[in-house]
Amino acid sequence: MQLPREVTVGKGTLTRVVEVAQRLGLSGSALIIAGKKSCEVAGKQVHDLLKQTGMNVDTLLVEKVTLKDLLPIEEKIKTLKPRVLIGVGGGTKIDAAKLSSARQHIPFISVPTTLSHDGIASPLASVKGLDKPYSIMAQAPLAIIADTDIIAQAPWRSAISGCGDVIAKFTAVKDWQLAHKEKNEYYGEYAASLALMSTKIVTQNAKLIQPGNDEGLRVLLEALISCGVAMSIAGSSRPCSGSEHLFSHALDMINCPHAMHGEQCGVGSVLTAYLYKTNWKRIRDTLKQIGAPTTAAELGVKDEDLVKAFEMAATVRPERYTILHKLKLDHEACEKVAKITGIIS
Ligand SMILES: [Zn+2]
Repeated sequence: MQLPREVTVGKGTLTRVVEVAQRLGLSGSALIIAGKKSCEVAGKQVHDLLKQTGMNVDTLLVEKVTLKDLLPIEEKIKTLKPRVLIGVGGGTKIDAAKLSSARQHIPFISVPTTLSHDGIASPLASVKGLDKPYSIMAQAPLAIIADTDIIAQAPWRSAISGCGDVIAKFTAVKDWQLAHKEKNEYYGEYAASLALMSTKIVTQNAKLIQPGNDEGLRVLLEALISCGVAMSIAGSSRPCSGSEHLFSHALDMINCPHAMHGEQCGVGSVLTAYLYKTNWKRIRDTLKQIGAPTTAAELGVKDEDLVKAFEMAATVRPERYTILHKLKLDHEACEKVAKITGIIS
């Protein structure tokens, strides 16, 4: 079980990068992976702060992150031999740092500048160009430094996506319990409880999660970090990724406009909560309260594409048993569920 050793959350915490590095015994050299924007808002400051301590610091700017784009990062790691890789940015930059550092056997520090999904703290990474459309095991961050002053500057839509990703854990855990009961799959009560607690806390605090509310942002941030820890404890994405994630991955695979990951997972969770005959309306209403999409139109997806994704979701990962694998819904049944839940008209 790999867990982060230092988690620093709050206003102005970016400046603590030096003491965190020192406490972790990281000296010598560091390589920062950032995008152009995230370098401006945080990467440059991390670079300068570490440099002032006498560390040898380099920054590598990346934009697109596909499997191919990891090669120059790994080459740079081989040449510079940094003690640590620091991923500064949204999900893709952090995933690039996570996966390339894991492949080169050096630790990485996560410095999120947006809160669009739970990858900021998880041991899993999702990179385009892999033979699978979902996340693969990489490594957990050695430390997470999340400065809410910086995160507050990101487009609000990314926080909405992060909320959708957390709320979706409700059905992810239901699927895990189902797989345990019917397929005798390993189930970890502690990891499942941690993921569910994150959903519960975000749901209870939905009214705080609004632009300009630091407390709300902090609630979301801690929920996303807890989800990452839940995956570390479970040793897989099981507590955080079930049928609703398969729906989102299926949507990504279809040639149609896509919404953000957490937005798609939120809608997926409404669909599959209905299949569990549980309180799907509560999930929908919480998403609405936060300002997240609850219909195909709000996702920017055509009704027929949404139904197609719902129908093909189980085939994305046949080995990950969920309610979709159990019920094996045909096109008509999928359409009916999407209509009853008001997701399509
Ligand atoms: Zn997710």
